[in-house]
Amino acid sequence: MAWQDYTHDMQRCTRCSYCKWIPYRYMRDTGFMEGCPSVSRYLWHAYSASGKFNMAYSLLQKRIEIDDIFLDVLYKCQMDGSCDISCKVQQDIEPLQLMQELRIKCVEDGQLVPAHMIVIDGLRKEDNMMQSKKQDRGRWVEGLGVKDFTSTTAEVIYHAGCRYSFDRDLWPVARGGLQLLLDAGVDVGVMGVEETCCGGRAYELGYAGELTKYAEHQIETFRTTSARTLVTPCSDCYACFKVLYDKIGKKPDIEVLHITHYLERLIKEGKLRLKKKVPIKVTYHDPCHLGRLGEPWVHWQGKEYKVMGQMIVHDPPKKFRRGAGGVYETPRNIIKSIPGLDFVEMYRSKEYAWCCGAGGGVIDAYPDYAAWTGAGRLKEAEAVGAEAIVSACPWCKRNFLDAAGETGNKIEVLDIIELVQRAI
Ligand code: SF4
Ligand code: SF4
Repeated sequence: MAWQDYTHDMQRCTRCSYCKWIPYRYMRDTGFMEGCPSVSRYLWHAYSASGKFNMAYSLLQKRIEIDDIFLDVLYKCQMDGSCDISCKVQQDIEPLQLMQELRIKCVEDGQLVPAHMIVIDGLRKEDNMMQSKKQDRGRWVEGLGVKDFTSTTAEVIYHAGCRYSFDRDLWPVARGGLQLLLDAGVDVGVMGVEETCCGGRAYELGYAGELTKYAEHQIETFRTTSARTLVTPCSDCYACFKVLYDKIGKKPDIEVLHITHYLERLIKEGKLRLKKKVPIKVTYHDPCHLGRLGEPWVHWQGKEYKVMGQMIVHDPPKKFRRGAGGVYETPRNIIKSIPGLDFVEMYRSKEYAWCCGAGGGVIDAYPDYAAWTGAGRLKEAEAVGAEAIVSACPWCKRNFLDAAGETGNKIEVLDIIELVQRAI
């Protein structure tokens, strides 16, 4: 659907501002009730989902044009979907999809964010989002002696993703996840230097063609192997393979799992034993792409009618993605099965989790805003008494580390892989 196809949604946004907050019934602490990082930081209605509906409607009516202010409002947004989920508590409209289509329109019109142009140039030359050389892609795995799909095959593909492949600080985590699978006897390999970006982040920036290009490339690559399962420790990659490829009609013929799915499976089968006590109080941060954005895509084709002058009905009835179908219990089950560990939830969790701050290209274009958002989450983790905040995505870990560095916050930042390693 194009952005203009959401005209009814633009008109039906009631300006109620639910999208700025988590739903009332989940509010437990007055310090942690906000849901939208963008409007919380920039304190102007335009930065909320509702504001973007207003902007889109004004654009449609030719009252405004896309300019630097428009881009500022549209792109100082993590595309984390918190607004979308809160809105859908009481509305059947699609704020996040409208924002996505507006970004695609901006790119099609040549209205580009300079920092993103650099990232996309790098992607087009080097097949990654980190402005790094493609020949360095497999370096994170050197010395592990793992199968490489460029010369052999295996049952499971371990897809590290761009951040894990090139962020040296995070290499131990990527290697640790792979080692857990190897130690459990999994027949697993990597694509090594041939691994490429999934295309998901570029799509979120509005570069729709890059998603199609990489989806087709990945599907063709999977076809040339006998692998039956793809496992990724990156939540962004997971959402891309699982949700976005399906959205654009390019669902891969391979089982797509996040590493937490696979670790939980190995624990249940007794192939991974969490024996050691880990006496630490931790909280879990739901990565947006594993949580609400990891909810399977729901295809719908039909007609939208206006009846009695104002009510919109869908024929056939349309099922909306309201966030509940994300991956929430799997990582919690793993954490809770670690002996000696004390688990505490944050005030905003699961589909109502506050974003880490990195998403939607914010970490590239507006790093101070990314760090501000991440710092808010670290504060929340501290407020519930956690000694460590655990996530399941390299973008979360990177951004939390950066935010902790800037604010001096001493809370430990862990990926769930590191926590599991401590219990082995
Ligand atoms: S986007 Fe949804 S939640 Fe936000 S003001 Fe509009 S109707 Fe309300
Ligand atoms: S996607 Fe996130 S940052 Fe953007 S408007 Fe929605 S809640 Fe705010």
